[in-house]
Amino acid sequence: MSDESAKPQRIGVFGGTFDPPHVGHLVTAINVGYAIGLDRVILMVANVPWQKVGTRPITPAADRLAMVEAAVADVPRLVAGDHEIVAGGPSYTADTLAALAHEFPGAELYVILGDDAAAAIHTWERADEVAERAQLVVVDRPGDPVSLDPAIDWVRVEVPRLDVSSTDLRARWADGRPLNYLVTDAVLDVVRERGLYGGSA
Ligand code: ATP
Ligand code: MG
Repeated sequence: MSDESAKPQRIGVFGGTFDPPHVGHLVTAINVGYAIGLDRVILMVANVPWQKVGTRPITPAADRLAMVEAAVADVPRLVAGDHEIVAGGPSYTADTLAALAHEFPGAELYVILGDDAAAAIHTWERADEVAERAQLVVVDRPGDPVSLDPAIDWVRVEVPRLDVSSTDLRARWADGRPLNYLVTDAVLDVVRERGLYGGSA
């Protein structure tokens, strides 16, 4: 008789600013989860995305969390993570993984990231600890291929490449262009209700 409880949980951690969450994020999360057989993929909302602070205004974390919650509601295995918001302060994946290891003893952790983020992993706080605590899983984004540190044991997963970024979507919304199909209807409702991104399309 197989003992399901003895099987380690496989948990994906897909961190981001999610300002706003879009189809590129969702297609990545669902397909990586499927490809690797993850029990859940946590879209982990950065509290203070310290690498972006000062480069542009960041939407309050509570609004970004509300959008991610709206995006994943009713999607099996995708969940919104508020760990970094609850912890407060700047968000470091190394700390988040330590907290998850405590919350889910024995779980196998997978950190999911686009290749732009993967190429910059050495700018992260305690990147070596991240690579020790989790298997790193990288997906390609459209654009030129990036070079990844060969010393890191990356797993690559093929997902449909969608040329969508939050930066572009914010600009579209601000000048009145539609976001339908680029974000889910539920995310669009949150954008409208909370008056985010200065638009009104
Ligand atoms: P911004 O333009 O504000 O940087 P973004 O679209 O890059 O937003 P982030 O919140 O910065 O979104 O990214 C979170 C994670 O999602 C990163 O690992 C990033 O590489 C990945 N990601 C973002 N957009 C895509 C996409 N279209 N396809 C695959 N991965 C993506
Ligand atoms: Mg980005």
